[in-house]
Amino acid sequence: MNFDGIIEDLAKKCEPSEEHFDYYKDGLLICGKCNTPKECVVEVLGTLRKFGCMCKCQSEEYRAMQEQIRQREEFERIGRLRTQGIQDRCYCNWTFENDDGRNPQQMDKAMRYCLRWEEMYRDNIGLLLWGDVGTGKTFFAACIANYLIDRGVPVLMTNFIRLSNALMALDEDRNEYIKSLDSYKLLIIDDLGAERQSDYMLEQVYNIIDSRYKNGQPLIVTTNLPLSEIKNPSDIKYSRIYSRIIEMCVPIKFEGPDRRKEIFNLKLEKAKKLFEGD
Ligand SMILES: [Zn+2]
Repeated sequence: MNFDGIIEDLAKKCEPSEEHFDYYKDGLLICGKCNTPKECVVEVLGTLRKFGCMCKCQSEEYRAMQEQIRQREEFERIGRLRTQGIQDRCYCNWTFENDDGRNPQQMDKAMRYCLRWEEMYRDNIGLLLWGDVGTGKTFFAACIANYLIDRGVPVLMTNFIRLSNALMALDEDRNEYIKSLDSYKLLIIDDLGAERQSDYMLEQVYNIIDSRYKNGQPLIVTTNLPLSEIKNPSDIKYSRIYSRIIEMCVPIKFEGPDRRKEIFNLKLEKAKKLFEGD
């Protein structure tokens, strides 16, 4: 609704009805509903002139409508943040509300990170989620991403391969791209070390991480690599990236059965039953 629409609507809402008639007092029109003036006198160039104004109930209505508009704009802004920030659509539903409670200790840490986000951001504290495949690292990271986005914080959740592909697709604008990532208060890189990369691409990924380091902006990284590998990489090509990550991120270990394998086995069981007796 535009401004004129709001004013029209307000005027209608405050029209005198059978229950409350507007009346005049000391020459000014008074609202019969709230008994405050709908007119005021202002001195213009030495003469007193009468102008229409909002009575108490009209201005309350006006404020309520403004608040409604603000809330809708905020809702739309958060929708845009989520579309831009969470590149894998399926992660949009990975929230604390949808947690199945299998990793209570870890999820408690994720929630604490969110609740103390201001402090985490100020002190540039990131997380390194490491451990075996299928132990809930990506779920942990996505819950943080969704929680912060819901509160209007710009977060980008992407993965190592997607980042390198995005950089590869650019010719000269790589620095611009790296700079554009600064607009995200939190950067989450899923699946670090998942694929062998060329020296050049590793250099670019290093630049991204280094840029966050220099700007004091936090980073969350997930990896299936053991912490010992991050601390002492067997391939020297990765050492610059890993040592920055160690400087910026607090390691959190994930262990337990492979959830993906469990889900796959359940599906397999179902399929077996379906085809049994054929
Ligand atoms: Zn009124």
